[in-house]
Order: sequence, then structure tokens, then C-alpha cells
Amino acid sequence: MIADLHTHSNASDGILRPEELVSRAKSQGVSLLALTDHDTTAGIDAAKREAIAAGMGFIACVEISTLWNGIGIHIVGLNIDTAEPTLANALSSQQNIRDERAKEIAARLAKLGVSGSYEGAKQIAGNAEIGRPHFAQHLLNEGVVTSIEQAFKKYLGAGKPGDVKQLWPDVREATAWIRAAGGKAVIAHPDKYKMTRTKLRALIEDFKNHGGQAIEVISGLQTPNITRDMTGLCERFALEASCGSDFHQPNAHWQELGSFGKLAPHLTPVWHDWPNVA
Ligand code: AMP
Ligand code: MN
Ligand code: MN
Ligand code: MN
Repeated sequence: MIADLHTHSNASDGILRPEELVSRAKSQGVSLLALTDHDTTAGIDAAKREAIAAGMGFIACVEISTLWNGIGIHIVGLNIDTAEPTLANALSSQQNIRDERAKEIAARLAKLGVSGSYEGAKQIAGNAEIGRPHFAQHLLNEGVVTSIEQAFKKYLGAGKPGDVKQLWPDVREATAWIRAAGGKAVIAHPDKYKMTRTKLRALIEDFKNHGGQAIEVISGLQTPNITRDMTGLCERFALEASCGSDFHQPNAHWQELGSFGKLAPHLTPVWHDWPNVA
């Protein structure tokens, strides 16, 4: 079975429509797909309809932007009830935070001599709430940078002026929302936070003590060393294991849907107690 439990559509910062994402996943051999858009479940209904028609396993999910001790951390909620009010209200507040944050990012870019970026990013985002990739695309379109990568390196990445994260809720809060909606809370791409070992362990311990159930042992294309490392952390803290491509669009920067290594057989996969999923 190929389970891809971390993907994005154009309901957040992905490029494909939810329906297109599902048919691409199907043609890549994915048998269980999770749509995990940033702070929204707006694409879930369309994706689910398409997945049912295609005879593919599908679960409703979300990737929530949070903070832990001042560090921006992404928490994936897997197999959630999207109608559950605690989570639904929290996600609608996340959408407001995104808009407020986008205005703050634009104000900071304006101070650096780049004006009009809120309007530019909003136009690119379309119906989705604005994320940093939309700013990156705007900076590229305007010729301020020569690549998306450069936009993150100079303006938007961790520690740069456009990295506005103070508004996000605490990891523990987001974990509670996910649990309230019947989902499993998962630390997304734990290797990507540039944290020290000690801090990463403290995050995982704190997360587990507050109801967190899993970590992404495999996130997209990663070296065997990282997989071994994440497998070790997963075992050490007796958590369940998740895996996903973090696919955003078909290009070299992002891993293809369903295309990554397998979880070690001694780990407990997050889907072990989901009915009708094997
Ligand atoms: P946001 O959700 O607005 O905080 O933006 C975070 C998103 O930016 C991530 O989910 C990625 O899609 C994207 N991102 C982060 N770093 C990079 C990078 N170096 N190159 C391209 N996209 C990136
Ligand atoms: Mn993204
Ligand atoms: Mn993420
Ligand atoms: Mn993601």
C-alpha cells in the first residue's frame, strides 16, 4: 500500500485543484491519500468526491501553523471530522490570522522598498488565504528576485523580515483542536526546523505529553540518515509513524506524490487502527 499523508492543493499554497491532485495521486499508485492544506479544509469535499469516484482511500486532514517556544512548527491533523465546531472555529480564526499576517509581511517588505505586495500576493492566492509562497511568486513576477528559492533566502525564510509567526497559536492548542475533532496529531517534517537535538527532543516530549500521537518519519525526499534518525525518535518516544510527500506542485523542488521510502516494518503506522485501511 502507498499512503501519502501530506499533500497540498490550491485551497492553500499548492497549484493543483483538489480534483487534479486526487487523479494525479491515483496515477502515481497512491492508495491512501491525505489532503493537508495549510490551516484550511476548504478542498476536502471536492477531493473526497473525486477519490470515491476513483476508488481510492482518502482521509480529511489539515496542516496547522503553530508556535512552540517561539519556533514555527507545523502540526498535521489526520483523519479529522471537518464539521466538528472546535476545530472548524479554530481554522476560521487561522484564516483571519493569515490575512493579518499577510498585511504585516507586506508592511515589512514595503520598508525594504517592495510596495504593493499584499495586493500582488492576494491576486496570486485567488480563493485561498495568502501564504509566503504567494509572496515569493509575486516577488519573482516583479523581478525583485530571480527564483522562488531566492525569495525565501532573502525575504521570507526563517529569520528573514517576511517570516512573521508571532500570531500563530501554541502547538498544544492545535493538538487539542485535532483531538477534539477525532483526529491524530502529527509533527510535520520534524527534520526541517533547524532545531538542536535537545530542543527537538523537548518539542516531541512536550507534544506527546499534550496528546500528540505521531511524527512524520518520512517527509518527501530525504536521506537514509534522516530516515534512520526520525525512526529512532519515533521509537524512543513510542509514537506512531506517518509519511508523506508534502507535494505542492509538479516540479523539481517538490517530491512527486506517493514517491518516497517505506516506513520501517517495526514502527506502528498511523493507519494501524483505522477501519477499512490496510
Ligand atoms: P506559510 O504557510 O505562509 O508560513 O508558508 C510556508 C510554506 O512556504 C511552506 O509550506 C512551503 O510551501 C513554502 N516554503 C518554505 N520554504 C520554502 C523554500 N525554501 N522554497 C519554496 N517554498 C518554500
Ligand atoms: Mn506549503
Ligand atoms: Mn509544513
Ligand atoms: Mn505541507
